[in-house]
Amino acid sequence: MDSNAFREWSTKAAEWGADYRATIRERPVRPAMTPGETAARIPGAPPEAGEPMERIFADFEDVIVPGMTHWQHPRFFAYFPANAAPVSVVAEYLVSAMAAQCMLWQTSPAATELETKVLDWLRQAIGLPDSFAGVIQDSASSATLAAVLVMRERALHWNGNKIGLSGGDRVRVYASGQVHTSIDRAIWVSGIGEENLVRIPVKGPLRGMDVEALDTAIVSDLESGYRPAGIVACTGGTSTGACDDVAAVVEVARRYGLYVHVDAAWAGAAMICEEFRTLWRGVEVADSVVFNPHKWLGAQFDCSAHFLRNPEDLVRTLAIQPEYLKTHGKDGFINYSEWSVPLGRRFRALKLWFLIRYHGLSGLKTTIRNHVAWSQSLAQRLAAEPDFEIVTDPVLSLFSFRHWTDGDMDQHNQALLNAINDDGRIYLTQTRVDGRLVIRFQAGQFEMTETDAETAFDVIVEMARKSL
Ligand SMILES: *Cc1c(COP(=O)(O)O)cnc(C)c1O
Repeated sequence: MDSNAFREWSTKAAEWGADYRATIRERPVRPAMTPGETAARIPGAPPEAGEPMERIFADFEDVIVPGMTHWQHPRFFAYFPANAAPVSVVAEYLVSAMAAQCMLWQTSPAATELETKVLDWLRQAIGLPDSFAGVIQDSASSATLAAVLVMRERALHWNGNKIGLSGGDRVRVYASGQVHTSIDRAIWVSGIGEENLVRIPVKGPLRGMDVEALDTAIVSDLESGYRPAGIVACTGGTSTGACDDVAAVVEVARRYGLYVHVDAAWAGAAMICEEFRTLWRGVEVADSVVFNPHKWLGAQFDCSAHFLRNPEDLVRTLAIQPEYLKTHGKDGFINYSEWSVPLGRRFRALKLWFLIRYHGLSGLKTTIRNHVAWSQSLAQRLAAEPDFEIVTDPVLSLFSFRHWTDGDMDQHNQALLNAINDDGRIYLTQTRVDGRLVIRFQAGQFEMTETDAETAFDVIVEMARKSL
């Protein structure tokens, strides 16, 4: 593609993006599609000869877009948000155009130094002490894997990478049943093994770990000759927003020299608002904390902020220095590839820099506070209806509910959810609470307005009464 064509198609793509965002409200949030519909329209073999851009672009609009779920839709209330504020999309375009690798300081000095700076901005914004240093990981799953690897290496006296896990003491990690499945996968991939992930029961309205049970589990493991390594705590669990008492968890961890990683992938963004920080009280004494600016803060995916009290532990666990990667010259700079499992790294700091500067912390705080307030008032309105039950109260902007019926409650609520999503005006997902199927609602999309929350109420009530 020559530079004229590149300019022309870049302009076209930018115009398409702006039009898409401007008209997104007119689309159903989730497409009405059957499996295989898109695949059937794509040739089975690659073209031998190059095709004109006009045709490729037309097929994008015709074949692909109708089959997309619109995550930037203001009435996307499913899962968790994956905001890409327009300003971060602009930054991503620049990053794509430069396409630099940012694994070492010298492979892109400005990218490394900007990453250090904006992560320190974020650290201040969420109220972590300056003893923490940050790195951008591709996802919270990767940050959690890195933290679990550190737990493993610390517990094995920094020998696990060398001699492996076979034959040694069994390493143990503790978490509640409310943590994200990325914890299970980190346990599998790190070689610790699912049988050594000890599930601690939860209690209380926030469904946090029972710390006495945690203490008992650790003591019992020590007596049985296991090697306790670390604890994964969560602030804002995926299902219903469960929050562990981080301060109490760390207190137990300190007693036995364990490493504590806090997964706040979704809820961490809300910590830019001081009033929400009670949810992770004690985080300042944890060892590792992750949150995803690519969820609620508005940074285009992927962008996961991982903060560490001792990055040396992480570097000791993950740094490899073959000769061709050695940096000659001035010491004292950071090579972020030593802080993560993948070697290659995209320039992810630029979109954070654009985002934070454009919106300002106060703009971002207002957005998040609005989502919390609108979600809470929706929960109140539903609770006031005689045929609805709020199953889990709002944690920030997430709550779950059920609609009453004389028949099978699970079946009825699944049918209601399907009817709501087929309608297309809003999009919700389900979870299970103590075995019961419930419908989740979370507000977090950047373009959402209070009217969208009212629409959600109308659609939910209308569909529920219709389905009776
Ligand atoms: C979304 C989420 C994750 C996974 O995040 P990725 O960045 O997609 O890996 C992990 N934990 C919690 C609590 C989450 O909400």
